[in-house]
Amino acid sequence: MSRIDQILQGADGPVFSFEFFPPKTPEGEERLLEALSELHSLAPAFVSVTYGAGGSTRDKTVEVVSHIKGELGLEAMAHLTCVNATVDELRRTLDQMRDAGVENVLALRGDPPRGQERWTKTEGGLEYSHELVGLMRAEYDFAIGAAAFPETHIHATSPEDDLRHLKAKVDAGVDFLVTQMFFDNRFYFDFVERARGAGIEVPIIPGVMPILSLDGIKRMTELSAAHLPEELDEQLETRRGDEDAVTDLGVSYATLQCADLLAGGAPGIHFITLNRSPATRAILSALRLMRPWQH
Ligand code: FAD
Repeated sequence: MSRIDQILQGADGPVFSFEFFPPKTPEGEERLLEALSELHSLAPAFVSVTYGAGGSTRDKTVEVVSHIKGELGLEAMAHLTCVNATVDELRRTLDQMRDAGVENVLALRGDPPRGQERWTKTEGGLEYSHELVGLMRAEYDFAIGAAAFPETHIHATSPEDDLRHLKAKVDAGVDFLVTQMFFDNRFYFDFVERARGAGIEVPIIPGVMPILSLDGIKRMTELSAAHLPEELDEQLETRRGDEDAVTDLGVSYATLQCADLLAGGAPGIHFITLNRSPATRAILSALRLMRPWQH
């Protein structure tokens, strides 16, 4: 087992990874364990666990990552945000992660807490994720990931500014980037080209979320400003009220999306699983059978 920077460097094929969130209820916990046990057999290169926005599930991130590493023997990455935390508190969380054997951290700023329109840093905390990356690079030995936004971050003043800030973040010590979900691959390919042109050389792993529910995807695209292509939206709408048909389309669409990304040179796929296994299982199995990256 090795760190994600080393996994990416040594890979002779695409690097597949799965994202989970820490559960809030006993039923959620059960569902996560079930998804983990089903997805375990697909041998992902690593698994990541998000960091709760409000604070309620924060300790859970380290707990779930430790479980995945220790009990399941999979490489794992903890997400960490600057929300509601002073620098000392961030250090304490990073110490906790290091002491639990975590070797990979996705360094994020986080979104404004619920009910707050604009981002303001916590007193004694950090303003932007590049500061967290800098702190981690100076004081810890983690492999460091960070977020990237093919459709431009929702609060950025312009795509150019966003890219400039991304370059500064990478220069502060980022080993690899994971993108926000998107549904039109042109955003990804165009973004990678612009990033390379700006001197960003680290691997850029596309984040892909299979659509599993119509209302769910509408909510998520609104929050993240990921754009749902009109034709896809129309096809989803014709299936309104039939969640199985929505999921079938979601899985088919994501499979073709991943095949196109891999054929176009993406270094892997980071699947946003929503703690459910069937869609990711079907897509990854089909990809491994067809191996579109060799075509
Ligand atoms: P930053 O890199 O700090 O950028 C935020 C904004 O500030 C951008 O608009 C950028 O252009 C601008 N900016 C950066 N530097 C400067 C500067 N020097 N001057 C002026 N402007 C600047 N959220 C969670 O709460 N928990 C999670 O686990 C989580 N996981 C995520 C995983 C992925 C792969 C992605 C893509 C996002 C995730 N998020 C998560 C959401 C993320 O926290 C938000 O999208 C957040 O708003 C941006 O985080 P960031 O780290 O990209 O911020």
